[in-house]
Amino acid sequence: MSGNIVNALTIDVEDYFQVSAFEPHIPRADWETLPGRLERNIELILRLLDEADAKATFFTLGWVAERYPELVRRIVDEGHELASHGYAHYRATDQTEARFLADIQLAKAVLEDICGKEVRGYRAPSFSIGRSNPWAFDSIVQAGYRYSSSVYPIRHDHYGAPDFPRFAHEVRSGLLELPVTTVRLLRANWPAGGGGYFRLMPYPIARWSLRRVNRRDGQPAVFYFHPWELDPDQPRVPGTSAKTRFRHYVNLRHMQRRIRRLLSDFRWDRVDRVFLEGRA
Ligand SMILES: [Zn+2]
Repeated sequence: MSGNIVNALTIDVEDYFQVSAFEPHIPRADWETLPGRLERNIELILRLLDEADAKATFFTLGWVAERYPELVRRIVDEGHELASHGYAHYRATDQTEARFLADIQLAKAVLEDICGKEVRGYRAPSFSIGRSNPWAFDSIVQAGYRYSSSVYPIRHDHYGAPDFPRFAHEVRSGLLELPVTTVRLLRANWPAGGGGYFRLMPYPIARWSLRRVNRRDGQPAVFYFHPWELDPDQPRVPGTSAKTRFRHYVNLRHMQRRIRRLLSDFRWDRVDRVFLEGRA
């Protein structure tokens, strides 16, 4: 166990065919007919969390919740926090303000209807909020959320806002932004909060980065992963580029072991307990 800081563990609940990088290859109309893998993968995640006695926040698509209400209720019954990943996985950068607002309002209503509790958190698909669309934060406030975890302050070809604050801050009155964790090194921010990097780099680099954030910055980490990252046997999506394939499929086989190590090397809890407790 690394120190006393409790970190926030998050899972973006979407199926392998809903990933942004596959958007050009899989029309949304096909989502209904593709073989789903979420039940198996969420079961596995719940088991890993239970074994480690850890709780987490599940940023769930409204589309998923409508199709798997029992699974969503199980997540909540096991003591985890249910939060919103929007309804249909549209990136904020691809939407008008009105469509973005409608999507995140619908997701909140669907999720609250199923779990019977207030849904306070929202995460934009592909961390698609940054300097180009600050209006998105106003929409998140308007939809009634209390916090967002939608910014990854790194340089990346698909997302990222490297000049954004690295840690929790009130981005609007009553709305906290909780950026995914980066490590500051050589005058740049490096990803330390999950994603393809976590699968690509040796585990000790991730552990070193998170320890540095806990000890040197004195801050809790915000870490994320996806159910499909624990599923090496997921159906392959045809027609994708070599780069997309590499990013999506690299080291899936090692992920379960790595998540186990992560869970035992650090203390983890739900976002609301790590960041909202003690705040008005
Ligand atoms: Zn997503």
